Amino acid sequence: MSHKVYVIPCQDYSQAAEQLSALIAGMGGMERFVRPGERILLKANLLAAARPEQAVCTHPAVVSAVARLVADQGGRAVIADSPGGPYSEPGLRRLYERGGMVQAAEESGAELNYDLTSRQITLPEGKVLRQAEVIAPAVECDGMFDLCKMKTHTFMSMTGAVKNHFGLIPGVTKVGFHASHQDKGRFADMLLDLSAWAAPRLCVMDAVLAMEGEGPGASGTPRQVGLLLASDSPLALDVVAGEIMGLPQSENPVLLAARRRGLTPSRMEEVELVGGRMEDLRIPDYRFPGHVRTDIMEFFGPLTPFMERLTKNLMAQTPKIRPEVCIGCGICKNACPAQAITMRDKKARVAPGKCIHCYCCHELCPQKAVALKRGMLSRLLD
Ligand code: SF4
Ligand code: SF4
Repeated sequence: MSHKVYVIPCQDYSQAAEQLSALIAGMGGMERFVRPGERILLKANLLAAARPEQAVCTHPAVVSAVARLVADQGGRAVIADSPGGPYSEPGLRRLYERGGMVQAAEESGAELNYDLTSRQITLPEGKVLRQAEVIAPAVECDGMFDLCKMKTHTFMSMTGAVKNHFGLIPGVTKVGFHASHQDKGRFADMLLDLSAWAAPRLCVMDAVLAMEGEGPGASGTPRQVGLLLASDSPLALDVVAGEIMGLPQSENPVLLAARRRGLTPSRMEEVELVGGRMEDLRIPDYRFPGHVRTDIMEFFGPLTPFMERLTKNLMAQTPKIRPEVCIGCGICKNACPAQAITMRDKKARVAPGKCIHCYCCHELCPQKAVALKRGMLSRLLD
């Protein structure tokens, strides 16, 4: 079966409604995805309370446009996500206000989720995840849409449609997942299990203003890409996004895990791109986190699994707090699964020996106070 990914140019968010409407029409129209009266969860990427121009979260113009298409079809859209850190009502209010979701909901008639309860789910087919706790609207909706953002990710190299489902895990429960899935391959397997459970009917990727560099949080750099993408397959969307960004498969743990498990698609040859040609879309100079060396395989040639592990360890970055900008909010300490962070004199400190390199501290620090010190090999290669 060929997996289709639809792409359309969108240089500016003022065009998002019109372009999304055309994109979904090309997929057969919203009637393919919503029946009248259904409650549709719009699972946006709302990682942190950030302004839309920071490119941390799915842009409100994209969320609003999809919500309006759902309403036009007689459905009811609910905007929800569990950001990093504590899952609380004041936290959600701040997130929605700062990220433009209040206005998106008002414009489109969508509901903003304030239900902080969670539900247990079982995943009998899961490879590493057999049960989990997820936010209530994920269980109570009739269907889910995955409204993800094209971003780099310090731990997983990139975040797109599959990784977006991690936000279904409520609040600090996510911290435990980092502790129990420290290996990237195992973490990727967990994400694939969760994504298979979520089974989104429609995935839309906001790649109008994407993120490069030290993503996925405030330390990343917005990058104009000017595209909207859609598919009914999260994996297909990630294959295409990875190709556009120029991320080698060897550096993409989600696609590597998918291939190991025989899931399709996991490579570009298994995807049909509609609306554009990859040779026109690929970005030659997309910047990745410091440890992702797109040239590493070319430099060393094929590596044995042991050498590959060793190379990656020597490339790994270590978090280092910049005391001059740390405001002592403690977000990093609460998010650290290894309890490697302590507070002293209202400043965070990292014990490098305890660090498991999950980069949650770096992802969630609102002040860009967590710098990443590059691994020895990475520095030597330069
Ligand atoms: S490093 Fe960042 S998240 Fe941690 S206490 Fe300082 S400002 Fe807060
Ligand atoms: S110090 Fe940062 S990177 Fe290290 S384990 Fe804690 S949260 Fe993860």
